[in-house]
Amino acid sequence: MEIAIIAHDGKKAEMVQFLNQNREILEHKNITLISTGTTGEKVSKAGLEVNALLSGPLGGDAQIAARVAEGHCHMVLFFRDPLDRHPHEPDILMLMRLCDVHNVPLATNPATAELLIKGL
Ligand code: PGA
Repeated sequence: MEIAIIAHDGKKAEMVQFLNQNREILEHKNITLISTGTTGEKVSKAGLEVNALLSGPLGGDAQIAARVAEGHCHMVLFFRDPLDRHPHEPDILMLMRLCDVHNVPLATNPATAELLIKGL
């Protein structure tokens, strides 16, 4: 099962903490993590295995959206920062739309992500 993780700058530390707390579930369920570029760097520095794509503003969210559309990515955990502006907002909206189009579980905050992970 492939899960995409994305965290805006103000939420990256929280993402690393979240993954560490759920490391056992991720490892036991044989999950492959993919991510946007900078999120992936932070997560791999914390010792987790992740396939990092392009950085979000350079197209990483769009790459993940394509994987959702093609049926390769089965869940998206996206820690958004609603208090910041993002130059790639159109890509973010596309990703969220395609999750809805293809009925792929999408968490946009840690509380929902926790529920999704516990539901695996
Ligand atoms: P990043 O992208 O992990 O490369 O910072 C995240 C995003 O802003 O979508």
